[in-house]
Amino acid sequence: MKLFLLILDYPLLVQYCILNHYMNLDTAQTALKKFFGYETFRPMQAEIIQAVYEGKDSLVLMPTGGGKSICFQLPAITMPGTCVVVSPLISLMKDQVESLRANGIRASFLNSSLNSAEQQAIENEFFNGELELLYVSPEKLVTSSFQPLLKKAKVNLFAIDEAHCISAWGHDFRPEYSQLKFVKRNFPAIPIIALTATADKLTRKDIVTQLGLPSPNVFVASFDRPNISLEVRPGQKRIEQILQFIRLKTGQSGIIYCLSRKSTEDLAAKLNAKGIKAGYYHAGLSAAERSKVQEDFINDQVPVIAATIAFGMGIDKSNVRWIIHYNLPKNMESYYQEIGRAGRDGTKAETLLFYSYGDIMILRDILSKNQSENTEIQMAKLDRMQQYAESLACRRRILLNYFSEDSNEGCGNCDNCLNPPTYFDGTVIAQKALSAAYRLRENVGLRLLIDVLRGSGRKEIFENGFDSIKTYGAGREFSFFDWQHYMSQLINLGYLEIAYDQKNVVKLTPASQRVLFGKEKIQLVQQTTVKARQEAAKAKSKPISKRERVRDDLFEVLRQLRKQLAQQRGVPPYIIFTDASLEEMAARRPMNDAAMQQISGVGERKLQLYGDAFMQAIRDFVAANSASIKDGSTSKLSLELFRQGLTIDEISVKRELAPRTIYSHLAQLYEAGENIDLKPFISATHIDTIIQALKYLEKPYKLKDIYDRFDGQYQYHQIHFALAHHRRQDKNEITSLS
Ligand code: ADP
Ligand code: ZN
Repeated sequence: MKLFLLILDYPLLVQYCILNHYMNLDTAQTALKKFFGYETFRPMQAEIIQAVYEGKDSLVLMPTGGGKSICFQLPAITMPGTCVVVSPLISLMKDQVESLRANGIRASFLNSSLNSAEQQAIENEFFNGELELLYVSPEKLVTSSFQPLLKKAKVNLFAIDEAHCISAWGHDFRPEYSQLKFVKRNFPAIPIIALTATADKLTRKDIVTQLGLPSPNVFVASFDRPNISLEVRPGQKRIEQILQFIRLKTGQSGIIYCLSRKSTEDLAAKLNAKGIKAGYYHAGLSAAERSKVQEDFINDQVPVIAATIAFGMGIDKSNVRWIIHYNLPKNMESYYQEIGRAGRDGTKAETLLFYSYGDIMILRDILSKNQSENTEIQMAKLDRMQQYAESLACRRRILLNYFSEDSNEGCGNCDNCLNPPTYFDGTVIAQKALSAAYRLRENVGLRLLIDVLRGSGRKEIFENGFDSIKTYGAGREFSFFDWQHYMSQLINLGYLEIAYDQKNVVKLTPASQRVLFGKEKIQLVQQTTVKARQEAAKAKSKPISKRERVRDDLFEVLRQLRKQLAQQRGVPPYIIFTDASLEEMAARRPMNDAAMQQISGVGERKLQLYGDAFMQAIRDFVAANSASIKDGSTSKLSLELFRQGLTIDEISVKRELAPRTIYSHLAQLYEAGENIDLKPFISATHIDTIIQALKYLEKPYKLKDIYDRFDGQYQYHQIHFALAHHRRQDKNEITSLS
């Protein structure tokens, strides 16, 4: 500290050079563990922090949840003085300050939510150097009364959060931000770090110009969020699908984005009627109502919110586990931003987008009614969104490529990667559709076209005499939804097109002729039912082992404890520990300080505050469960005898159990991690051969199927051991990943 006071007599630039000498990444690394409980930096964080230490200005582009905050918070706590953070939203400031305090960091905020006495107290703290971070609203920062304080206090860094708000090009321009140019002008020697999740190039350039940064370092992190799964489903029976989706996610927080205010209310009512606690949120609610909904969501009191896009902006909640788009978003930017609100803690999160032509038409309608100079751009953006929804290729690739990030591999975590499409000869289907469109004189919309194909009794059909055309009823064998699916493929393949400027009627294209006259064959993608897809996905997901189930139960216990502590302390549960930390605790079961500190997210402060409570809960759980393992001691007894050197037959006689049962005891225990030598039963090569064959079989694997596949070459107990080995490997993989 003495050194710091001495240095203060030097001009600012010299101060920085001297301080820089004392700041290095080791300091930052130590603080990362001590305060945040994290072992390593995420990509780019270290470089960014280094640049701040060197007194350089930086522009940081990282996706939501990428870990932007650490980039200024670590310099803030490791350098002498206070970091001033400009943040546009009161709720965000509150959240960040709470998080910091929970980690034992001295932080406060100044904004219009405080009365003048409160403001005064915080200004004093700032002036006296008692704060490591001070969050301020842009309005506050620019007030003239604040300037003298800003000059006198020891500011080490200015962080401009949500920096895209400064650009009129961005999607969230805030006039208050445009005055921030004065910062660099008045404090040229203090580094500025501007942070945003908005990647587009124009906005990026504009931020630098608007802030007057002479030559900032620009850091662009990958926008990939591999923990978020991507899925698109046809928008049929949405409510039913949503109910099914949510039912599997008891207690998990999620958001359903809807297009209209009314649909948020309807949807919430329907979910509540089915016993799912859900709230709704839209711009038509009063400020008080809105903040209540937000609080309940943040505090895990109401897990599900049906909302218009207005919801989520000011929320840093790290444990949003899923996002549903009830309707197609207007563009890829909105979509990515909205799904990005899930899984900020880095653990598994799911997203589901419903898509239908109806949505496209509504969105086009809205856009064309608000004619403005960029309507054309908006329409083009909507087209891209539609292409994404209809694509049969890896969705993450499309997203990343859209954001100019090269990606040429399947991600393995989207619906198209998990269920690659299967093709069939769809020429006849196409001919029926095209011929119907032709006979209807290219003058009807998609819905009516399908109804004619299906031979529907709709009034309009008879009134127009459409029931007398040759293709009336020619496509009865498919459901309406199947037809929608095929039609959208025909449109994508260029055999049909929708004339958006002529009441959305379906038109033929030059390519249609070739199909109609039998000159061209068409491959279509098989329409799979949602049920079939779910079954396929289930088969692909690993069966839940006993150990994992216990882990889930323990996770639940820890989650309840977290909620209880959060209520006592009046903070959101994720501020106590993230879901990621709880999952790790549930898997690793730390029961002493040293083990607890190994858990990601457990820093010194949290260990001190909550360590005992969580370790006690783990101990209690383990004690209660080892009692139940005793019931399973029959297999342990078999193992015991086996270890004493008895053969399987001898054990079988002694225990009056079939040899098959003894084998299965050993296999179970081997799978659970017991050290058993399998060599006397089956060689490693043979285990390998059996495991290799599994990919041709359906899950859950049946011993009989494997037995048959090898024509009885292996005995049942050998197969059993091979499977046990396979599952044990799988489990090890899961634990080493987590
Ligand atoms: P952003 O502001 O970019 O949306 P945050 O700064 O809120 O993201 O970080 C998202 C989450 O990731 C937070 O829970 C944060 O604590 C966590 N996080 C950040 N850096 C790391 C790291 N190096 N290791 C582990 N978790 C991290
Ligand atoms: Zn993919």
